[in-house]
Amino acid sequence: MIYPWQQAQWQKVQQQLRGSMLPHALLMSGPEGVGKSDFAYHLANSLLCQSPDDMGNACSECASCKLLSAETHPDLFVLQAEERGKAIKVDDVRQLSNKLSLTSQYGGYQVAIIVDAHDMNINASNSLLKTLEEPPSDTVLILVSSNPQKLPVTVRSRCQTIAFNVPDAQLSLSWLEKQNIQQGQALLQLSHGAPLLALHLQQDDLLDHHKLLVSSLLKVAKNQPVIELAEQLHKLPLNYMLNWLFDWVEDLIKLHQCADSAKLVHVAQQSELKQLVLRSSLSGLYDYLDQLTKNKQLQSIPLNTQMLWEDLLLSWYKTLKRV
Ligand SMILES: [Zn+2]
Repeated sequence: MIYPWQQAQWQKVQQQLRGSMLPHALLMSGPEGVGKSDFAYHLANSLLCQSPDDMGNACSECASCKLLSAETHPDLFVLQAEERGKAIKVDDVRQLSNKLSLTSQYGGYQVAIIVDAHDMNINASNSLLKTLEEPPSDTVLILVSSNPQKLPVTVRSRCQTIAFNVPDAQLSLSWLEKQNIQQGQALLQLSHGAPLLALHLQQDDLLDHHKLLVSSLLKVAKNQPVIELAEQLHKLPLNYMLNWLFDWVEDLIKLHQCADSAKLVHVAQQSELKQLVLRSSLSGLYDYLDQLTKNKQLQSIPLNTQMLWEDLLLSWYKTLKRV
């Protein structure tokens, strides 16, 4: 699917395609939740469809399109880590390269999409490099990454980057409204402006999880014991929770530094945050942020998330001066 904020990127690749100038390797880069993967699939469909329309959109009716919608097209390969946060391994990249070295089954393009390409470990990246240096003809590799800096320069430099930024707020809001989303503004704030992330927050009751996190933080600030609170928090999706906690602490730091002109994620909790600023020091908040960064960088979910939350809430408690 192409979203309203991706028109320019779409026109660019279609122009290249029409002029037979489409590079063999593309890197779709940009923050999470702006639709990079959807764009990659839309492009793959466009390349594999037997009669795309004038705008390059797949017809959804030809034999190729039918195979694509059944996810059984023999010329489309999708590579991603077995689990979120795990590495893409060298064997998987080798397997992909071997498949691409054969001729296409349908006589057209062969397309490979590497989702979260930054998850490739160094051996996997090196292995991909060989394919990037000598790509088989009529092959298009599409790397998708929200963290392209993690990819080796050698890989990045062999791809044409297509950048996807966070769309204009008004555009995102009107798109969310069309999806029947009521609290668009609040959701967008929590999603750093990424509309698909905002949609996802709404659909999965994540907004309620966020409320629970904020109320827990405020309760800890009022000296409530952490164990019971940790018991509730540890059952919720850790990556979202850690990101929000990170935003919460960053909001406090921003308030320390620029007071009223600070652009906050937690706008709705502004007055509570302003109270907490008075009870915290910049250095204490930075220490806490360090602890969070370390937790966020862990490759896998810790075995005991209850203990992790007790730890995080206790550190939060210690960050605040008693009143
Ligand atoms: Zn088609």
